[in-house]
Amino acid sequence: MTIIVMSVFVAVRYHSNAELMRAALQERSQGVASRVATSVQLTIWNIYEKTYDRRYSEEFASAILDAEMQSPFVRGIKILGNFDHLYTGKIKIGDYSVPYFPELHDVIWSNSDKRLRYPVIEGKMTIGNIEVIYSDYEFAENLKQSLIIDITQVAIVGLLFVISLYLVLRRALVAPLQSLQLAHQALSSLDEAVFVINDAGLLIDINPSYTKMTHFSQANALNQRPSLYALKHPKLTITELIYLNSDKNNSWSGEVVCQRKGGSEFPGWMNVHKVIGKDTSVRYVAVLNDIEEKLEAQQKLNQLAYFDPLTQVSNRHSFMQSIDQDTTFAHQNKQSLALFYIDLDNFKWINDSYGHSVGDKLLVEISERINSLLRPDDQLFRIGGDEFTIIAKNSQSIESLAKFANAIIESAAQDFYISDITLHTGVSIGIAVYPQDAENPQTLVKQADIAMFQAKLQGRGQLCFFSQDFENKRIHDQNIANDLKAALANNELSLYLQPKIDIQSDSFDVHSAEALIRWHRDGEVLYTPDEFIIVAEQSDLICEIGYWVIEQACQRLRALQKQGIDNFSIAINLSPKQLKDEKLYGFLRETLFEYQINAGELEIEITENAVIEDLQNSIQTLERLRSLGISVAMDDFGTGYSSLSYLKLLPIDVLKIDRAFINKNPYEADDIAIVSAIFSMAKALGIKVVAEGVETREQLDFLIANDCHFGQGFYFTKPLNDMQFINWYKEHQHSTKAIAL
Ligand code: C2E
Ligand code: MG
Ligand code: MG
Repeated sequence: MTIIVMSVFVAVRYHSNAELMRAALQERSQGVASRVATSVQLTIWNIYEKTYDRRYSEEFASAILDAEMQSPFVRGIKILGNFDHLYTGKIKIGDYSVPYFPELHDVIWSNSDKRLRYPVIEGKMTIGNIEVIYSDYEFAENLKQSLIIDITQVAIVGLLFVISLYLVLRRALVAPLQSLQLAHQALSSLDEAVFVINDAGLLIDINPSYTKMTHFSQANALNQRPSLYALKHPKLTITELIYLNSDKNNSWSGEVVCQRKGGSEFPGWMNVHKVIGKDTSVRYVAVLNDIEEKLEAQQKLNQLAYFDPLTQVSNRHSFMQSIDQDTTFAHQNKQSLALFYIDLDNFKWINDSYGHSVGDKLLVEISERINSLLRPDDQLFRIGGDEFTIIAKNSQSIESLAKFANAIIESAAQDFYISDITLHTGVSIGIAVYPQDAENPQTLVKQADIAMFQAKLQGRGQLCFFSQDFENKRIHDQNIANDLKAALANNELSLYLQPKIDIQSDSFDVHSAEALIRWHRDGEVLYTPDEFIIVAEQSDLICEIGYWVIEQACQRLRALQKQGIDNFSIAINLSPKQLKDEKLYGFLRETLFEYQINAGELEIEITENAVIEDLQNSIQTLERLRSLGISVAMDDFGTGYSSLSYLKLLPIDVLKIDRAFINKNPYEADDIAIVSAIFSMAKALGIKVVAEGVETREQLDFLIANDCHFGQGFYFTKPLNDMQFINWYKEHQHSTKAIAL
């Protein structure tokens, strides 16, 4: 357009310039003619009047013509007299001015269209004419130049105009367009679905993410209602949601449930704003986020923070929170709640024997079994390795709690089939009730734990309610522990010996005895080991006592030797805790060396539960002790796990059958079968067998008949003090049979 306008402008200017130049040229030619006419007027008159010599006049005129012919645009001048009679003339041939000869130059003259005629006037009479022909070459040149200048000017002006127009337009139009484009690009690249609905609730615009999120194409989506509803207000449309918030800021944000094209749903978070246009039209612009992954991640975090990843039941962290909240709630609402403290029986043994993956599966199965028994107000937690708790809210009667706990115990006692292994375990449960048993959650947990411990003591697979008796017992135990420390320092402890008789020898020889600890005061036995050893085992005191027993036993061996009791061994009892004592080995080595104890003179008696918790470590410890020349006896066999399979793994020399199997009168078929099995297995493994608690002749006969090696019990003698034992030995060695008889 600019080019057209400029072109017209140039054309008009060209035309007017041409006109102007043409006129100027004509004027100048006329000027030439007029000057010539004026100059030659007198001459022509003279010629006309014939006053002067014509030739002279013509020469004069010729000189004037030469002068005028100097002008480049003048191509020829003729001075014509009356009746157009040629007086004289000049014409340019090329750039040279030559006299005019009609016969030569008339054709050129008549072909020239740039011609003018000017009269030579004398008075009122025209006495001649001046004719001038001129060239417009210079005019054309000038015109061309002026055209070039014009075009250049116009081009420059046009260019400047176009540039400034572009700049103005750019500012006025391009920038807003660009930002519009940018906004569109931004909307298109957003991960959030952005959509606009009109007042009727129909979609009028969507971005690509809307399609990606909902699977509705633009064609499917537009002019339809968006397939979503607010989670908290499922019945309200978007416009109604805004209306709900209209007193605030005409916007709404919240969780929504969106439906995809196929009908599947996903959770979303939507912000929607009411926008009123200049034309008062109402639009709703919504931004929708898919929060499915975010919710899943949150759920996972929640799961990790509050749930045990193995069993998927609530974890310890969750338990600590719940017990606080639930006791507070119970307190405020004057309700009571019960806390079940559940511990798996012999889990450690299962873990060690079958591996952790079996142990893990067992935990999963047991938690599933317990879970299936929970009542609506119960919540299960796994608070440690094999420890679970249940918070039973709004607890009812003790009977109903006991019924529930027994159901769990029964269920846990059923066999588990894991990885082709049949496992038998069980649970011990302690129950404490808030607020009866404890004023705060911490004490409640402690009391439930104490009750569980009590349940374990009563024999596994038991239920025990917390009672103040436990608390009293705890205080009593604490007193015993304090007194025991003092007793150790005050020499109130002593070792009694109970002989082990070789019942297969003809004369019932005695070559060994078991050292059994006693606590005296003023010659009286204060407590039996069953009363204080268990208390000592709850602290490191048992190790202190253990060192004392070892030293006493060694001293006693040397003392007996001095009394002529040679070729003799003493067995000492070791608690599970002592076996784990890292200083035990060093202490034994030094003491054996100090008292010059020979290999086989000292024996240790350990119980099954001392080794079962950590079979591998126990095997190593026992091997090391054996390397010192100490023999190892498995005490109280038959009362614990009594798994024959692990016996062959353990480095043991002697098996002591618990008196519960021996001390029977008469023997029942079951007992006979069990004891016979133990004997034949020990025989197969090359292990000597000692029968504890032999009290009658019938029992002894049964043992002799079953190839039992040694007998120990009141039938022979009770445990004896120092002097008593020496006397008894001297009296009965080699003649025990006679005494027994
Ligand atoms: P234990 O090692 O099984 O010792 C055998 C227990 O049975 C002894 O009880 C003994 O007096 C008793 N007994 C022996 N023959 C008969 C009998 O014919 N009939 C009956 N009814 N009982 C019989 P005691 O001395 O009261 O010891 C109890 C337990 O205390 C021991 O059981 C042992 O486990 C532990 N103990 C004893 N002394 C020590 C010790 O020095 N250190 C450790 N850690 N524990 C010890
Ligand atoms: Mg023993
Ligand atoms: Mg025993």
